[in-house]
Amino acid sequence: MSADDMEQIVSLAKRRGFIFQSSEIYGGLASTYDYGPYGVELRRNVKEAWWRENVRERDDMVGLDAAILMDPEVWVASGHVEGFNDPLVECKNCHQRFRADHVEGKACPECSGELTEARQFNLMFKTTLGPVEEEGSIAYLRPETAQGIFVNFANVQTTTRRKPPFGIAQIGKAFRNEITTGNFIFRMREFEQMEIEFFVPPEEGLSWHAHWKEARLAWFERFGVNPRKLRMRDHDPEELAHYSQGTSDIEYEFPFGWGEIEGVAHRGDFDLRQHQEHSGKPLTYFDPEKNEHYLPHVIEPSVGVDRALLTFLVDAYEEEEVRDEKRTVLRLHKDLAPIKVAVLPLSRNEKLVPKAREVLDIVRGNGAWFVEYDDAQSIGRRYRRQDEIGTPLCVTVDFQTVEEDNAVTIRDRDTMEQIRVPISNLLTSLSDQLS
Ligand code: ATP
Repeated sequence: MSADDMEQIVSLAKRRGFIFQSSEIYGGLASTYDYGPYGVELRRNVKEAWWRENVRERDDMVGLDAAILMDPEVWVASGHVEGFNDPLVECKNCHQRFRADHVEGKACPECSGELTEARQFNLMFKTTLGPVEEEGSIAYLRPETAQGIFVNFANVQTTTRRKPPFGIAQIGKAFRNEITTGNFIFRMREFEQMEIEFFVPPEEGLSWHAHWKEARLAWFERFGVNPRKLRMRDHDPEELAHYSQGTSDIEYEFPFGWGEIEGVAHRGDFDLRQHQEHSGKPLTYFDPEKNEHYLPHVIEPSVGVDRALLTFLVDAYEEEEVRDEKRTVLRLHKDLAPIKVAVLPLSRNEKLVPKAREVLDIVRGNGAWFVEYDDAQSIGRRYRRQDEIGTPLCVTVDFQTVEEDNAVTIRDRDTMEQIRVPISNLLTSLSDQLS
């Protein structure tokens, strides 16, 4: 895949209503994006796939939905006020800023001008609480969802009577005033995270870190990502963040190069200890068997919804030649595909349309799938449109349906093979193919 392919994907995402630049009619706001009708479905499916595997299918995980605004002291305790800085250099000529670790040498990558010394720049967005803008009313938009979990550790543990090892999972918005932008939705200023804080007895930290590395990599593969484009990169000790006892990144080979899609960090007891000290409230767990209080250690698998979605989108994108014609197809995993089934009359004909509407009611009535009806343009163009948005199955109503056999065809997105199925068997057949 080349940079060209990336352009094709961005263009498809816009043309088909997956992703738009934010405030586009005003010229667009950098590094913020809006999800259109198919994008919002894909995004919900990505979150659902994560929530299902990590919360519903496990008995050692519970969910949480904490507020975006938190007591500002939280960010002092977490180290974000002090430490959440990127060293920046500025070009003395064109005044563009770059992350110091992203430029080589002393020259501006844009205009070759001279760069300043590196300066720290905090990535948190500041806002004020209440009507008066004064020092005491400062708050931050959270730059990660993790801290909402740590400060609720005691609440969740006592109300659910959980015993480590157990985890708390959360999906929610996060905000970072990123300096380096670009690469579509890979790096945004407003994005969403899916984070797990998994609390374990200290001596089990390493083995749980290994477990989560494997489980999270397997999740991407389970939902169809090509394993040859995925890799696990363990950070060198000197690369580790202040809190971390070991961090591994899951990386994907995007058209613009390898990029981190998820971090799996062993955070030790750093966060609970910090919040215990800053809040003055005990955050230890009392182990009745050992008769001792201890601070659990934490393993944190943290992934961006948008980066995961970009991974699925890029990995699913394919252009191929079929019978001398070019076709673009999104080979999305069926659980992620925005539309599961499209119902299409062969043409907009007075006999076919009512029958197709009947079939639509049957399929939609099943309640499990997002189903689309389309009768505009030629059937070939409609198939190609469904291929481009990744719809796994198309159901077509033709004259044979109304005049002869009360059966329809089901067309498979990937093989383009068509099978004929009596309407009375349609739901069973679709269920088989979608499960
Ligand atoms: P990077 O080095 O790319 O800035 P990071 O190491 O700061 O990322 P983490 O703080 O570990 O990222 O955040 C965990 C996950 O959240 C990342 O793996 C990524 O999927 C997602 N994420 C972080 N920053 C952004 C962003 N600006 N836009 C979209 N997703 C993001």
